[in-house]
Amino acid sequence: MPIENIQVLLCALRDLCVTTTFYDSINILLLEQSQGKYQYQDFSERGYCGRGNNSHWLIKEKQQNLITPLDSLPREEAMEAFLKEIWEKIPQGITSDEIVTEAKSLLSRHSETDDQVGGICVHGLKAPGARIFGDTPCNTLGAVILDMKELTMHYSVGNPCYKKWNVLKLE
Ligand SMILES: [Zn+2]
Repeated sequence: MPIENIQVLLCALRDLCVTTTFYDSINILLLEQSQGKYQYQDFSERGYCGRGNNSHWLIKEKQQNLITPLDSLPREEAMEAFLKEIWEKIPQGITSDEIVTEAKSLLSRHSETDDQVGGICVHGLKAPGARIFGDTPCNTLGAVILDMKELTMHYSVGNPCYKKWNVLKLE
């Protein structure tokens, strides 16, 4: 992320945090920033929010003619379906271990098509502009799951579908 985008992001977060009532009531906030602008939506009441690196607000129309929606929207749909299912299982007592196991499976998910477009874990994806600028084939570099109840971080270095998952205590 270019440094000017990081500065815009930090300013946006600062602006949100200085509004006390906002700060007190927010648990899940999606903030989208691009080219010096930002927009956000509060998902606290719904309880979850999944995304796939695509714009919903700021540059959605610019992305329509690119491969971005074809690659990002299936990932967003998979994330949202996963989070909805987990959200609904919480009252039934799903454990942190069960959620982490299912999250690892989600993050290891491949596309059902040969071109890998829409897969979460990819091996040499050729979709110019979908995840990086240019046409260099993309590989998943790693995966991260933060378990905020157990204060642990589960991560893979490399493709999560076959690389070892490591655990780091956050305390
Ligand atoms: Zn894989």
